[in-house]
Amino acid sequence: MRIVLLGAPGSGKGTQGEKLAAHYGIPKISTGDALRAAVAAGTDLGKKAKAAMDAGKLVANEIVIGIVEERLEQPDAKPGFILDGFPRNTAQAQVLDKLLAGHGQHPIDKAVHLAVDDEEIIHRLHDRAVKEGRHDDQPDVIRHRIEVYNEETHPLLDYYEGQGKLVTLKGVGTVEEIFQGILKIVA
Ligand code: ADP
Repeated sequence: MRIVLLGAPGSGKGTQGEKLAAHYGIPKISTGDALRAAVAAGTDLGKKAKAAMDAGKLVANEIVIGIVEERLEQPDAKPGFILDGFPRNTAQAQVLDKLLAGHGQHPIDKAVHLAVDDEEIIHRLHDRAVKEGRHDDQPDVIRHRIEVYNEETHPLLDYYEGQGKLVTLKGVGTVEEIFQGILKIVA
């Protein structure tokens, strides 16, 4: 199973991605987690990514594409994967399709869109700021991340709709209810 998770920041991609990965026995690949690990480790890549992340901007395509390409080549990702936070713009989605084709891998099966309205998103991200203390969960950065999502990532819904792969469900309810909804819709 090869799934791309789409949705605004705070829509629950990370949580549902973990559950899907465990369910299918395949890795969850999160560019946000990979970038935060690189920042924490102080690598060159982390240094390059940090300013954009702290400002709620997208990190350069070459950086995130490099991360994903390397990760998809690992043996555990051959049977399938759950992508969380990638692709985030049309250029990334096109490269992903090319990468899979180039490596002789199956294309993406489904793009699952977790639809959550802006007001609920803002509320959740403020909660997370208190609980997790992420640098990018400050009010003005949150606002900017939502703008970036609407401008750059939201058009991906059309991209995957055009491929007949888009499934949308409301990302509201208990974690388990949403998870069961995803399983049903991708089956
Ligand atoms: P959220 O889903 O809450 O926005 P993520 O953990 O997915 O958080 O991403 C955090 C930050 O990492 C983003 O705001 C962005 O700066 C960077 N990032 C993650 N994935 C990508 C990507 N595919 N392209 C560009 N930047 C990315």
